[in-house]
Amino acid sequence: MLEIRFAKKSTLIETQPVGKLDQPDFLNCVIQIETEFEAEDLLKELQKIELEMGRVRIEKWGPRIIDLDILFFDNQIINLPHLTIPHKEILNRKFVLHSLNEIAPKFIHPIKNKAMKKLYEEC
Ligand code: ATP
Ligand code: CA
Ligand code: CA
Repeated sequence: MLEIRFAKKSTLIETQPVGKLDQPDFLNCVIQIETEFEAEDLLKELQKIELEMGRVRIEKWGPRIIDLDILFFDNQIINLPHLTIPHKEILNRKFVLHSLNEIAPKFIHPIKNKAMKKLYEEC
């Protein structure tokens, strides 16, 4: 059976909502995993977990019990209708770069060719 193994986890941080401001703050963190899944299958697994945890889609960027996004997948660049890797909003979300810098400061963004530490400082 294919597995998702936890490798590293950033500190849990409370952040203000993006996109839709009149809602409670969000809790955010970044985790590093090891897996034999391909990226598309990993997305399916994450969506299964979201459903099992009771996520219901009410409105774009609205409150939700859980949101699992793939930020990077090794140094792969993927542009499919249902999957974009690296995640397209990384550079616009300082809290994401903050957490990435915490657990993987030397990891290089495969399109920008810059380390997380540098991208965080520039954000
Ligand atoms: P954002 O993408 O701005 O963080 P969101 O996470 O709230 O917004 P969702 O409604 O959870 O958006 O996801 C919408 C779709 O995004 C999913 O159905 C999925 O197919 C697609 N998607 C594209 N790239 C990714 C990715 N890297 N990780 C997770 N989902 C992705
Ligand atoms: Ca998201
Ligand atoms: Ca999502």
